[in-house]
Amino acid sequence: MMEGSAGLKHKHLEFTLAAVSELSSSSVSSSSSYTPVIARFSADGGVAELRFRQGSEFIDGFNVDLGTAQLFKLGPVKSLCVSESSETNKERPYSWGVTIEFRNEEESRDFHSAFEQWKEEDVVQGTHLPNGAISASKSKFDNKIEPSSAKMYFHYYGQLLHQQNMLQDYVRTGTYYAAVIENRADFTGHVVVDVGAGSGILSLFAAQAGAKHVYAVEASEMAEYARKLIAGNPTLGQRITVIKGKIEEVELPEKADILISEPMGTLLVNERMLESYIIARDRFLVPNGKMFPSIGRIHMAPFSDEYLFVEIANKALFWQQQNYYGVDLTPLYGSAFQGYFSQPVVDAFDPRLLVSPPMCHVIDFTEVKEEDLYEIDIPLKFTASVGTRVHGLACWFDVLFNGSTVQRWLTTAPGAPTTHWYQIRCVLSQPIYVMAGQEITGRLHMIAHNAQSYTIYLTLSAKMWGPGAEQGGILQTSSCKLDLKEPYYRMSQPQPYTLAQDQQPHQLLQAQDIPIQAEDLEEPELLQQPSENSGAQLQ
Ligand code: SAH
Repeated sequence: MMEGSAGLKHKHLEFTLAAVSELSSSSVSSSSSYTPVIARFSADGGVAELRFRQGSEFIDGFNVDLGTAQLFKLGPVKSLCVSESSETNKERPYSWGVTIEFRNEEESRDFHSAFEQWKEEDVVQGTHLPNGAISASKSKFDNKIEPSSAKMYFHYYGQLLHQQNMLQDYVRTGTYYAAVIENRADFTGHVVVDVGAGSGILSLFAAQAGAKHVYAVEASEMAEYARKLIAGNPTLGQRITVIKGKIEEVELPEKADILISEPMGTLLVNERMLESYIIARDRFLVPNGKMFPSIGRIHMAPFSDEYLFVEIANKALFWQQQNYYGVDLTPLYGSAFQGYFSQPVVDAFDPRLLVSPPMCHVIDFTEVKEEDLYEIDIPLKFTASVGTRVHGLACWFDVLFNGSTVQRWLTTAPGAPTTHWYQIRCVLSQPIYVMAGQEITGRLHMIAHNAQSYTIYLTLSAKMWGPGAEQGGILQTSSCKLDLKEPYYRMSQPQPYTLAQDQQPHQLLQAQDIPIQAEDLEEPELLQQPSENSGAQLQ
């Protein structure tokens, strides 16, 4: 079983030296023809260290922690190794050093390059480094994500109740199950990496489909539960190795033929885990290996929902009070109003609220570069099917399992069976008016931030009508800025990551019973008449 030190290709490496001595002491250990002095690099328990032995006896107290050690060349065959003292050694409270004498220059050179390599290994494993001590050692994850955000994030996923919530989304888990089992050929005899394994469920599915070996990589404390679950399913478990760590940081002993992962957040990209999935591809997938899922699509359409608009606007009315226990609250009204409209609304809505057929933005996980996900800029263009007031942009996503036997979509579209992702709506504080057949243009600009989410800039425009409109196309434009990290969960239903949640009792379907036909949902029934609650008649 692989554990933390999975990355080390070799367990130890030895060099014969001419001599070694502690800097502040007069005792020197020199090689003789009978008892050579040996320097030994090793990485037991994920900690890379350098020790010295004479014959079979390790020289006491000469343990160099490679995480903090530095090596200096004093001469062609002489070097100094300085290391931080271990916390338990009271005699050497600070750093200490050993002088190392080599037998020749070539061995000195080899030792120096081995030292750097082993140091690197330690940094990659990073199990005992103080946080942020060496910035070069930070992983791609640590470099872009705020530590407090990561801490909350992995704390959330470390809890069984949240894993249960995802497992109980039967549309989600059932689609993964079907996609894997129906495409056995893609798994049988192959090496699989499960990126963000959580409870280990997808690893177990992959093993059921005949995977030769599955590496289940999970950064949160859930890794321990995954081990337990997998150990309790021994026929499958013997082909699964759980590795606790971030996919950006762990090392694996072999490449994967296929990656499986569930990295989707609300609006597909929330949580920024797609980037980890892409990094996993670049680090571990063989050329032309498969990815389950292989593409994701963000679908967008303008919607009309007077009810929702009024609900949000009314929330700020509290701050209109001029005599709240004798205090005038109105100075904060504007800020409160803006605050409410900066929250993307998460709920399941009726697809008849859509004002036009949706557009989609495709992200090909097999091709996209990680950096391409830092900023996503989508030009928008729709044709209104009805005359109404447009209150904003509705968004949802789907992902494709491009199996060699069966292709399967997992969709979160309005009108399709509801998932724990629901749908997202960005609401404009200034609605715009459109006529049937009129063009609506705009831009959805999403910029990733270091709290594992995105700032969303939405603009929608439509030409005005009425007097003067024929001459010139006066545009009505409405914009808003939202934080995907701070959604407004509108239903009293369970919520995905960002808020606490429970289970979803109305979704106790059997996995096998779920018809997934995204194709049929491409064009949800459009608003033919302004819906009852939309109040969308033009004044
Ligand atoms: N695969 C499981 C869990 C999906 S939730 C399932 O389908 O049920 C996503 C999981 O990925 C969480 O458990 C989270 O802790 C983990 N994760 C997120 N980013 C990660 C990263 N960079 N490295 C390792 N695990 C990560």
